[in-house]
Amino acid sequence: MSILLVLEESNGKVSRIGWEALAAAQHLAASLSQPVTAVVMGASTQALAAEVAARHAGKVVRLEHALLTPYTPDGFCAALEQLIQRESPTQVVFPHTYQVRDFAPALATRMGQVLVCDVIAIGDGPVFTRQLMQGRLTGTYRHSGNGPCFISVQAGAFRAEPVAAASADGASISTFTPTIDAAQIRTRPSEPFRGSAQTVDLGSAQLIVSVGRGIKEAENLRIVEDLATALGAELAASRPICDNGWLPMERQVGSSGQSVAPKLYLAVGISGAIQHLVGMKASQCIVAINKDPDAPIFEVADYGIVGDLFEVVPALTEAVKAAKQ
Ligand SMILES: Cc1cc2nc3c(=O)[nH]c(=O)nc-3n(C[C@H](O)[C@H](O)[C@H](O)COP(=O)(O)OP(=O)(O)OC[C@H]3O[C@@H](n4cnc5c(N)ncnc54)[C@H](O)[C@@H]3O)c2cc1C
Repeated sequence: MSILLVLEESNGKVSRIGWEALAAAQHLAASLSQPVTAVVMGASTQALAAEVAARHAGKVVRLEHALLTPYTPDGFCAALEQLIQRESPTQVVFPHTYQVRDFAPALATRMGQVLVCDVIAIGDGPVFTRQLMQGRLTGTYRHSGNGPCFISVQAGAFRAEPVAAASADGASISTFTPTIDAAQIRTRPSEPFRGSAQTVDLGSAQLIVSVGRGIKEAENLRIVEDLATALGAELAASRPICDNGWLPMERQVGSSGQSVAPKLYLAVGISGAIQHLVGMKASQCIVAINKDPDAPIFEVADYGIVGDLFEVVPALTEAVKAAKQ
């Protein structure tokens, strides 16, 4: 009995949400007393498998076939179905990425199961929690019946850091070659979409000051820029700020922007919509400044300041400067 974790590659490396999914799988493994088998997929997976083995002290399976690169839903479904039949896991865990959304529901259906997607928490049982209706409701799900339970884990729901600390002792890598016929693959992939090159890597920033619509006008941004400069932090924003062109799109945090996990995330005039929260709630310490005491951002904040940002932010900047002198 084991838990199968299906990782995803991004530019030749395991994506950060993949490490978060590994953390989720390890959490599940601890509560079920089952080992985690991590799976890397593609035409050539040696380097990826070595990267995983360096951080995961368990089994790593290279699910390798020439027809798995480039990605196609038919190829991935065929390959994973065979591996799942061989391994008979109790749970199959995925990171909730666009690619997983594309093939995992079909894979689960093909195996007579459903996919519990976008899971934000895992409780004993196991019980899986996901948000409904843009975060207004929370649903809990328990798997029943035979066959594995398929879940995908939302970005930012689990911290990837504990995985980095795991000992690599005992990691073992094996290869499984599925049988795939070219005739099974119905899609003809074209060149993958490439976004414009990002000059800001918010994902690795340690300190972030993030600004939302509470700032009211582009001219007012300088007060948060001053705070970011005083702290030595990167400046980020909620979507309306970037949609308005007040800051570049690459500074947007959230489901359609970057996912971040800094030591400090200071949210200024941001309400805390679910699409924003998914991009930042993995931050180690969240401080929110908002004049509305009922703003949802306070539900995820470690420290909250209920007040007018136009008073609080300049005072904070002065305090930071004074503390640094
Ligand atoms: C498909 C989809 C994808 C999306 N992707 C993203 C995404 O990636 N990132 C993202 O951020 N959003 C995203 N959104 C938008 C999201 O739903 C919210 O609309 C957005 O996050 C709201 O931004 P905000 O908090 O800055 O603005 P608002 O919700 O308008 O909140 C402004 C906040 O400022 C406070 N405020 C006002 N004045 C002051 C003051 N003087 N002092 C202190 N506080 C003040 C208010 O109380 C309020 O809480 C997406 C939406 C959809 C439908």
